[in-house]
Amino acid sequence: MTHYTGPIKPKLPHVGTTIFAVMSQLAHDHQALNLSQGFPDFPVSEELIGLVNAYMKEGYNQYAPMLGIPALREAICAKIEDLYGRVYHPEKEINITAGATQAIYTAVAAVIHPGDEVILLAPAYDSYAPAVEVHGGIPVYSHLKAPDYSIDWEEVQARLTPRTRMIVINTPHNPTGTVLAETDLQRLDEVTRDTDIIVLSDEVYEHIMFDGQVHQTVMRYPSLVERSFVTFSFGKIFHGTGWKMGYCLGPENLMAEFRSVHQFLVYCCNTPIQYAIADFLKGPSHYLGIGQMLQAKRDFFLDLLKDSRFTFEPSSGTYFQLLDYSRITDEKDTEFAVRLTEEHKVASIPVSVFYPDLVDHKVLRFCFAKREETLQKAAAILCKI
Ligand code: PMP
Ligand code: GLN
Repeated sequence: MTHYTGPIKPKLPHVGTTIFAVMSQLAHDHQALNLSQGFPDFPVSEELIGLVNAYMKEGYNQYAPMLGIPALREAICAKIEDLYGRVYHPEKEINITAGATQAIYTAVAAVIHPGDEVILLAPAYDSYAPAVEVHGGIPVYSHLKAPDYSIDWEEVQARLTPRTRMIVINTPHNPTGTVLAETDLQRLDEVTRDTDIIVLSDEVYEHIMFDGQVHQTVMRYPSLVERSFVTFSFGKIFHGTGWKMGYCLGPENLMAEFRSVHQFLVYCCNTPIQYAIADFLKGPSHYLGIGQMLQAKRDFFLDLLKDSRFTFEPSSGTYFQLLDYSRITDEKDTEFAVRLTEEHKVASIPVSVFYPDLVDHKVLRFCFAKREETLQKAAAILCKI
C-alpha cells in the first residue's frame, strides 16, 4: 500500500486510543468477563425492539428531520417538565443526537474558540478534553477531592480567568459513582453568575441514583438553565448503548449555535429508533425503576465482595463501582487492570487515565450493569485475589 507522504500535524497529539476500546478488546482477546466498558449484558425491552422493527417494516427508513422527529422532542419536553419542572421548547431548545457523545462534542464545537479555557473536573469522562482540544480550547483541571471525590469549589474559583468559557460537570459521575449535592449546584450558580461562562452538564445517568437520593440538575436553577447545555443518553435509560441515541437541551440562543454544527456533523439521527422511543416514552415511565434495579445489582455485587481484599465505598449513582486494591498490590492501576484481565479474566477500567497527570489512587472501575450470573462469576474471581 502506498502512503500519503505529506506533513500530518496531529490535531490530538497527546491522545491515544480510548481506554474503553483498549480494555474491551483486551477482554475479548483473553475471554475475560468484561466489566470494563460501561454497557449492560441484559437485553433491551422486547416491546421497544418490537416498535423499532415495526417502524422499519412500515418504511420509516429515510432521513429524519434535522433536529429529531417532533414526536420525540415533544415526549422529551413532557418528560423533563414532569421530572424537573422546566419547559424546553421542542422546536428551539431540544436536539436529538447520536448518543451523548455527539451532544457533548457538538456543544463544545458550537461555543469553544481557539484559546478559550474549559474547566474540567478530574477524573473526567474521556471525551471532554479531546472535544475541547480539537477546537483549539484549553482544558484547565481542578481535581475532585479523594476519597469522596467532592468538588473543591475554592480551587475551581481560583482556576477561573477572563478566558474561561465553559465548565463541564457530570452527575451522577463517571468514573467515580459519586453524585453532586444541592450545595454544589448552588456553588456552581454563584461561581458562574455575572460571568460569560457556559455550563455543560452531562446528566446521562440522571435515573441511576441510589439510596433514595435526588438527582441534582442545573435544570432546577433558572440562572443556570440560561447558560447550560444539558446532555442525555437513551443508551443508559433503555439499556441499548449500541443504538447511540441521545439528546441535548439548552436555551434558544445556545441551541441555535448547537444546531449550526449539528446539521453538518450528522444532519440527523436514526429514524425508526426515534419513532420507537417516542412511543415508548408515552407509555409507563420505564426509566423510573432503573435506579432500584441497578441498586440491587450494586448491593448483590458488593455483598459478594465483602470478604475480598478489595475495599470500597458503595457507589451513589451510575452503574460503576470503584474498588480499591491497595491491600493487594502496589502495581500501577493501568498495569493491574491489564494483569487482572489477562491472568484472572476480569476486565475493569483503571481510573488514572481520566486524570491529565495520571493520578493513581489504586482504584479500578467495575461496571455492575450485568446479570447476576456475570457478577457472581466476577466476584468469585476477585475474592481469590
Ligand atoms: N457521558 C458519560 C459520563 C458517559 O458515561 C457516557 C457513556 N457511557 C457518555 C457521556 C456517552 O454516552 P453515549 O453512549 O450515549 O454517547
Ligand atoms: N461511557 C462508557 C463507559 O464509561 C463507554 C462509552 C464508550 O465506550 N465510549 O464505560
